[in-house]
Amino acid sequence: MTDRGRLAANALAVSFLLAAVVLASLRHASREPLDVRETAGEPGRYEARFTAMSTDVRLSMNAPSLGRARSMAAAALARVREVERLMSAYAPDSDVSRLNRLGGRGDVALSAQTMHVLQRAGEVHGLTHGAFDVTYAPLRDLWRDARQSGRPPDSAAVREALARVGFERLILGADGARFGAVGMEVDLGGIAKGYAIDLAAESLRRGGATHGFADIGGDLRFFGLPPGRSRWRVEVYRPPGLTERPLLSLHPCAVTTSGDYARGFRVGDEWYSHIIDPRTGRPVGDVPSVTVVAPDATTADALATGLAVLGPEDGLALVDSLAGVECMMLVRDAGGRISKHLSGGFHRFLESQ
Ligand code: AMP
Ligand code: MG
Repeated sequence: MTDRGRLAANALAVSFLLAAVVLASLRHASREPLDVRETAGEPGRYEARFTAMSTDVRLSMNAPSLGRARSMAAAALARVREVERLMSAYAPDSDVSRLNRLGGRGDVALSAQTMHVLQRAGEVHGLTHGAFDVTYAPLRDLWRDARQSGRPPDSAAVREALARVGFERLILGADGARFGAVGMEVDLGGIAKGYAIDLAAESLRRGGATHGFADIGGDLRFFGLPPGRSRWRVEVYRPPGLTERPLLSLHPCAVTTSGDYARGFRVGDEWYSHIIDPRTGRPVGDVPSVTVVAPDATTADALATGLAVLGPEDGLALVDSLAGVECMMLVRDAGGRISKHLSGGFHRFLESQ
């Protein structure tokens, strides 16, 4: 074959390959049902709903047509699915599962997204003095067993699990990671959702939306502002024990809530939080809810989990030292009464209390 012939054959092969990739991605995108409709009473604004990360997702954006809104939502959905695929602890070939399986033996290659989330997790680990620690997973397993057996773990079992926990022994390289001790595991359940929210909001904005939000399970990231409005208004969850439902008025930012009433569990007669203190090995006992406002949802998500561990005194002192971060913490006293604790600037967001 002449050079020119070979070139033409190569070009043809590349075109076929590209066509196949495009077709495959179209097929992939179209397989997923996506409910997109114009928001009632707000022409030009659209809302998409689907289920991801075991919860409800809502995307809101302005768009010139339903068709454009549909393709913007599909692109954002693809980003969320990517986070699920890489960071799920259940999917056997996710980055997290591979790291957990192989990380004790040597470096495991990880995607740029997972590396980014691990680095962010490290920052929040540092800020919270270890209260937020994605290597808490051996403790998760311990308490999962307790839930099954109906008996809390004894102190020897807690000690054994604690010996395999510690972010400082997760060794991060340029594009991979490994564990510094045998039996370590990570769980990104306290941060991956926030990251997915940030990616989805960013994707909508890149797709052309000037204002909107991404909401995964009640955690949100707002961008821009609807014309004529100076704030976004959002209701956060009302934990049992608090009579009012807090209504917040926010500039474009992220807001997330960690609450034990939503995802806690029972062992025997006692109700336990799904957030575990990596310093004691025991579930958090007296902080039923933490709402964090921060510039991005990755930070807000991880901080809310870490602040629940830190409790009101250390938690609020930390938040007051961070620019652009505010928090509302509900604390249960020995008698079961709930009190509300706010960081210095949180009252500015409260519309009704
Ligand atoms: P959230 O509902 O955002 O507070 O996240 C809670 C999730 O974070 C749990 O379901 C666990 O997956 C994870 N988690 C629990 N305790 C910790 C901890 N101390 N550090 C980091 N992640 C944690
Ligand atoms: Mg969290």
